[in-house]
Amino acid sequence: MKKQYLMAPGPTTIPEEVLAAESYPIIHHRTPGFKKVLEEVGEGLRYVFQTQRDVYVHASSGTGAMEMAVCNLLSKGDKALVVQGGKFGERWAEICQAYGIEVVSIDIPYGDVVTPSMIGETLKGDTSIKAVYTTHCETSTGVVTDIEGIAEVVRDHSAVLVVDAISGLGAEPLKTDEWGIDVVVAGSQKGLMIPPGLSFISLSEKAWELVKMSDLPKYYLSLMALKESWSKIDTPYTPAVSLIMALQKSLEMIKKEGLENVLSRHARLAQATREGILALDLELFAKRPANNCTAVKVPEGIDGKVIPKRFRDEYGITIAGGQGSMKGKIFRIAHLGYADTFDVVVAISALEMILLDLGCPIELGKGVGAAERVLRLGG
Ligand SMILES: *Cc1c(COP(=O)(O)O)cnc(C)c1O
Repeated sequence: MKKQYLMAPGPTTIPEEVLAAESYPIIHHRTPGFKKVLEEVGEGLRYVFQTQRDVYVHASSGTGAMEMAVCNLLSKGDKALVVQGGKFGERWAEICQAYGIEVVSIDIPYGDVVTPSMIGETLKGDTSIKAVYTTHCETSTGVVTDIEGIAEVVRDHSAVLVVDAISGLGAEPLKTDEWGIDVVVAGSQKGLMIPPGLSFISLSEKAWELVKMSDLPKYYLSLMALKESWSKIDTPYTPAVSLIMALQKSLEMIKKEGLENVLSRHARLAQATREGILALDLELFAKRPANNCTAVKVPEGIDGKVIPKRFRDEYGITIAGGQGSMKGKIFRIAHLGYADTFDVVVAISALEMILLDLGCPIELGKGVGAAERVLRLGG
């Protein structure tokens, strides 16, 4: 037996009470009992998204909501601005291209971050851009984007701002209404602590105006259909009943802890992880590191692909390697969702042992000690 630890930036560990809620006997979705569940879930999602507007639930992985935000907002011949600084920014461009949308791209080197003024300049130079597609936490590089600053800039233009908060929701601040974000999309298997299979989307009035005009093809992904059903506390097709029951429980947990406390827990775990990494003389990959996952540069002379493999095979810990061109160059340790103090200790401790075994000059306990100095509560 090897005790298993899930420390990848999605899917994340699921709390026992959420698993129990998911395993309740199935209930029919067109019943007063399920309506009550949907009502509660709707309220909980508005709290986590920090919005007064409805947040729609859809049965798909997060990418389904990303695709919704393209095929419902845009029309044939439209132009979209896409920030590409990692795998998930690139996904926005791929979805747009699949629908024949003209993509204006801001290309950011991996690990770097887009600035609000870069977006402002591009919008000023091309007033025909309909939407700006950004990534809250670029999970592939460990970067968090300045969405507040970007929203302030986009507000002065006719374009709508769309944010992929799939991995950032519930880990990094994101004030949908206060910051004036038009469209937020999220997914279930990251900060929301439930299994994969649900996606979420909320839209501003400005975004709904685009939806009304959109002529791109859609059926299962139609937001109009979703909105119409949701207004009657219903869903257009059979919803993922068990996942929604799990969500009801996880939202209840988030509300009980308090969103501010959830976010400060993530900030503390992320800081401890970063301190542990730096104490081992390793380098962070992200210029603006996110609180959901820490990307670390593989030390010179080490085969980077071996690190996540050793975590899994030797210690039962699933972390993430680099994706695409980052393969072998970075590894990523998540502290996302149902994560707490000793998850950081476990990850840094395993890292010390693995690096020592790979021949790195590691002093055991140095990284753990640095993390503990951030984590201790009585200090
Ligand atoms: C995980 C992730 C996605 C993809 O979500 P799926 O649920 O795999 O479709 C998209 N964007 C970001 C930022 C993510 O972290």
